[in-house]
Amino acid sequence: IKRDARFAQLTEDHVAYFRGLLGSESAVLDGVTNSNAADDIEPFNTDWMRKYRGHCQLVLKPGSTDEVSKILKYCNDNMLAVVPQGGNTGLVGGSVPVFDEIVINMSRMNQILEFDEVSGTLVAEAGCILEVADQFLASKGYIFPLDLGAKGSCHIGGNVSTNAGGLRLLRYGSLHGTVLGIEAVLADGTVVDDLCKLRKNNTGYDLKQLFIGAEGTIGIITKVSIQCPQRSPAQNVAFFGLESFDQVQLAFREAKGQLSEILSAFELMDEGSQALVRQVTGNKSPLEGQYPFYCLIETSGSNADHDSEKLGAFLEDVMEKGIVVDGTLAQDETQIKSLWAWREGITEALSHLGGTYKYDVSIPLKELYQLVEDTRARVDAAGLLGDTDDFPVRAVVGYGHMGDANLHLNVSTRRMDPRVEKVLEPFIYEWIAERQGSISAEHGLGVMKKKFIGYSRNPTMVGLMKNIKTTFDPNGILNPYKYL
Ligand code: FAD
Repeated sequence: IKRDARFAQLTEDHVAYFRGLLGSESAVLDGVTNSNAADDIEPFNTDWMRKYRGHCQLVLKPGSTDEVSKILKYCNDNMLAVVPQGGNTGLVGGSVPVFDEIVINMSRMNQILEFDEVSGTLVAEAGCILEVADQFLASKGYIFPLDLGAKGSCHIGGNVSTNAGGLRLLRYGSLHGTVLGIEAVLADGTVVDDLCKLRKNNTGYDLKQLFIGAEGTIGIITKVSIQCPQRSPAQNVAFFGLESFDQVQLAFREAKGQLSEILSAFELMDEGSQALVRQVTGNKSPLEGQYPFYCLIETSGSNADHDSEKLGAFLEDVMEKGIVVDGTLAQDETQIKSLWAWREGITEALSHLGGTYKYDVSIPLKELYQLVEDTRARVDAAGLLGDTDDFPVRAVVGYGHMGDANLHLNVSTRRMDPRVEKVLEPFIYEWIAERQGSISAEHGLGVMKKKFIGYSRNPTMVGLMKNIKTTFDPNGILNPYKYL
């Protein structure tokens, strides 16, 4: 990609304007007039995977919607490109600049503004960290309807902007259903106040839906109102081993049937992914033996004894039927956390082992794991996969949100090698398109998948999306070089 020449270069005058606007020293990290600021700016230029690196020289941290509005108006008037940034945990390179775009980091807008204890409606600023919101809700007997491995760093504004799916989608549905309203600022500084707190509101086009999953390309989300469910007093977790993906599918059917209303997560991990977690953490697997597949089931209900009886009976039944070979039930909160760590720790473990080619995809359930097998066979046939340093690829593994037919195909590499990428792409995208799957289930497009959108969306739809982008951001200053 080439830098878009329409965008202005930052000058000392621009920086002086932002300093005057934001006042506080810590709200402006300025590498334009201060050559010593490079180290402070570096973390905002680099993504979580350390795969994408920008060259921004200015980070702005607004403290209010009004400041966001004034920043954007000035940027729009002066043709300065910007990147909205939340917790910078995104996995498609969307949250860091490509060239010298200004980073607008939302971490100072982190307040919980309102909570209605009867309806469960939470209103918070976009920069509120997901785990902070969830802990606040826990103190009120409620739960955030979204949970994911990056909860300690990601912002709810970032979650909404990526339409993050995560671990509880099976139970509470997507943010398209739970987000009730948003406040956002458009490229020209216009504040869109749609901070609705109603569950029902059929008055015209539901514009907030456009911002959910827009990855900062049509506006900056400043506030969110969201419907939060009651926190279930009882949580149980089971972890089990299975011999084949056919058995995994049978177990999922049984779980839906037997656990029905208390089922809150059904997660899949293959042996390859678990071997990597064992290698990095040095922890002992929760099961005695090793199996090609593992599933984690979580239940959330109102009666711990009743739920664990149900889960125990389920486990007994699926073992009797020969669907599951071995399994274990968590006995307390600590064991629940440690079983979850086998699933939630995969992304982190992979990041310690070198580079990873990550594919977050949706595929009709029947063929979900076939993609991992076909990809592994292809990498192997190209002579790139092996146990020793001679091979660039260490492992091809699969895991994900089985309950949502969402697979994370990860290719763990010892070093970057252009031959690997050539073998993987466009093969993987073509494979998915042939099955009417989605090339981005929950992580979004960012810079990584921008050029592949055509595998999942037809030209008419892409055309309409481009029109929407132009309507909201005619100069294209918001998160350029990405998404579309
Ligand atoms: P960032 O990474 O900062 O930004 C993401 C995108 O949103 C960027 O395009 C950015 O420009 C835009 N953006 C951020 N804030 C705003 C705003 N206020 N207004 C407008 N645009 C904004 N994702 C899942 O869906 N499910 C998972 O289970 C999951 N697990 C993860 C586990 C780990 C360990 C990690 C590191 C990531 C995981 N993710 C998962 C990726 C997920 O997309 C992010 O963690 C999260 O939703 C992004 O939030 P963030 O605040 O970090 O946003």
